[in-house]
Amino acid sequence: MTTTRRLTGFKPTGHLHLGNLLGALRPLIAAQAATESIALIADLHALTLEHDPERVRAHTLEQATVMLAAGVDPERTPIVVQSHVPEHTGLHYLLECVTGFGEAARMIQFKEKSAGRGHVRLSLLTYPVLMAADILLYDIQQVPVGEDQNQHLELARTIATRFNGRYGETFTVPEGVRPDSAARVMDLADPTAKMGKSQGTGQIGLLDPPQTVRRTIARAVTDELAVVRRDRERQPGVTNLIDILAECTGREPSDPYSYGALKREAADAVEALLTPIRKRHAEFAADPAHVRKILADGAARIRPRAQATVRRTRAALGLLD
Ligand code: AMP
Repeated sequence: MTTTRRLTGFKPTGHLHLGNLLGALRPLIAAQAATESIALIADLHALTLEHDPERVRAHTLEQATVMLAAGVDPERTPIVVQSHVPEHTGLHYLLECVTGFGEAARMIQFKEKSAGRGHVRLSLLTYPVLMAADILLYDIQQVPVGEDQNQHLELARTIATRFNGRYGETFTVPEGVRPDSAARVMDLADPTAKMGKSQGTGQIGLLDPPQTVRRTIARAVTDELAVVRRDRERQPGVTNLIDILAECTGREPSDPYSYGALKREAADAVEALLTPIRKRHAEFAADPAHVRKILADGAARIRPRAQATVRRTRAALGLLD
């Protein structure tokens, strides 16, 4: 039986949060049996903006530990640190040779993240090409993507198609997929923005202590309408809480008029999900050498495919072996 090859990436720029869990990790775990997935900790992507080296190192190990705690099975789904497989940067350069400057400069994320900054790292411009390399390296067929990554996935498809047309069939052209189970979790303090890793008051970190989780949900921004219903336009905060409850439990709110009850139910639901993750995290975190061994094994297991891809690409481009 052939299974579909999937890649899900996480940037170690901060602590993993509820959005990462419900939007990416849980779908990855749910699809583990039916797909051949790779969980990539994209540490090179964490260097495209001003960064603190110690924090990137610590977040890389922490993310791996949280993934294991949440249920990623490294036997089925290799957890791989991007920089541990040097073929990522090797293929990146080769792909830059088939990508236009204008194509990279057009990326909305580049425009947004570079606007108003004095010193813009060149890697911020070229990282979508590195992302294309991340995907093409492993003959990935499906990439779960949110809207904000659509443009980057399209670039990967363009690069693969162009390369295959010009230099011969070399890459699998990847497809973007939206897993049924993926939720989009909004910030609890600003429900018009996606929950993210940057410091603020509206995120729920997967390792936050229970009282912090409960306080964050109790303080979630709602509205004056006093009715519990989904209305993303007029009631983004309430809609977010209903969605979080539904994602965690499969249940709808019990009281259609009480925001207090909605928040308590959502907090209980999130806590029920996070309690076992915290516990398993403490176990894995007590043995970082074991986690590092899992990372080393993951990289060793997938590297031959990456090496084969780079060999194929080099040959197609005319490099002497
Ligand atoms: P990042 O945190 O940007 O490295 O993203 C890692 C994965 O989590 C990607 O698949 C994102 O689409 C997903 N993700 C990040 N934030 C959210 C969110 N607020 N809601 C749902 N999915 C998210």
